[in-house]
Amino acid sequence: MHTENQVLVFLEIDRGILHPLAPEVLSAGKQVAQALHGKLATVILGNEITEAAHEVRHYGADTVHLVEHPLLDTYQGEYLCLALNELCKTLRPAVIIMANTLMGIDLAPRLAWKLDAGLVTDCVAIDVSGDEPGFLKPIYSGNVMAEYAPAAATCLVTVRPRAFTPRPRTDTPQGEIVPVTVTLDPASVKTSLVERIEEHSDGIRLETAERIVAGGRGIGRADGFMLLKNMADTLGAAIGASRPPCDLGWVSSNAQVGQTGEIVAPGLYIAVGISGSTQHLAGMMGSKTIVAINKDPQANIFKVADYGVVGNYEDVLPVLTETLKEILT
Ligand code: FAD
Repeated sequence: MHTENQVLVFLEIDRGILHPLAPEVLSAGKQVAQALHGKLATVILGNEITEAAHEVRHYGADTVHLVEHPLLDTYQGEYLCLALNELCKTLRPAVIIMANTLMGIDLAPRLAWKLDAGLVTDCVAIDVSGDEPGFLKPIYSGNVMAEYAPAAATCLVTVRPRAFTPRPRTDTPQGEIVPVTVTLDPASVKTSLVERIEEHSDGIRLETAERIVAGGRGIGRADGFMLLKNMADTLGAAIGASRPPCDLGWVSSNAQVGQTGEIVAPGLYIAVGISGSTQHLAGMMGSKTIVAINKDPQANIFKVADYGVVGNYEDVLPVLTETLKEILT
């Protein structure tokens, strides 16, 4: 028996602070809870994260399960999975939702296996018109939209960043904070965290960016990305890339957008010197407005672009950046 069709939303904590995608994940959770006429529970895990629990109370959940343990201080999938498994065995949620981030895609399959649950990753929309919610995700590199209604009693879903409208923050907190004690035994995990190396990044995070300026092989060299950076700074945008600039070391591999990179859905995606392979399109087709800058008028990217400029990016970008500066200041 499931607890009143309860939906459990797992929210990530980053250095003691609620992850910026939390309001979106809560929005997906609320849709499912309403469809199932059930309660919306949340869970956060970490060490000394009471402040974050209070922050969650501003987003309309019924309960905030607070799991604190020194071993949960730094992300280690095995410990988080053990702790969540313990909580889920007690709560017995019908649906568990988390973000389709690096943490989410590491954690979700581990937990689904432990709970013998169905798993839908990279969900972009939820169909609440039937008796049971249907989870929609793009398949075949985004060419087909599939709807999943998992047969398993418990269903785990990861939701794509920026696919769901964030829940607004309310002034008045609501919902109860429920401290949960978990037993974590280092002897029961097979991996240990040897070292954590933080990548220095002074730019805007790709996964939460409202605007992205992305470069491809057509940029030709590492310092060509400076022109993109100038435009990105003018627009308040994050820098993205197709796979070749990452493989060639022109930009960090974290910038890769596509099937094997980040899946993004910003309001504005400017693709510069990118041909538009299916693998790249799979990562950015959810963008609301797509602008392509490419010297080849036949480039595939123009088929999906809302606006296009045919030309050498080295001529186009400085003019475009100056014009944007004039408009925006
Ligand atoms: P190209 O296809 O070489 O295109 C370069 C473009 O730049 C051309 O259209 C050209 O006209 C234009 N150009 C050249 N010079 C200029 C100039 N001066 N000004 C303006 N335009 C110019 N790719 C990804 O991006 N993301 C992924 O996640 C990904 N995953 C993959 C997974 C698998 C299993 C495989 C097999 C491939 C994957 N790829 C991925 C690679 C993908 O197939 C393509 O090779 C890649 O996307 C091509 O990148 P590109 O468009 O930058 O380069």
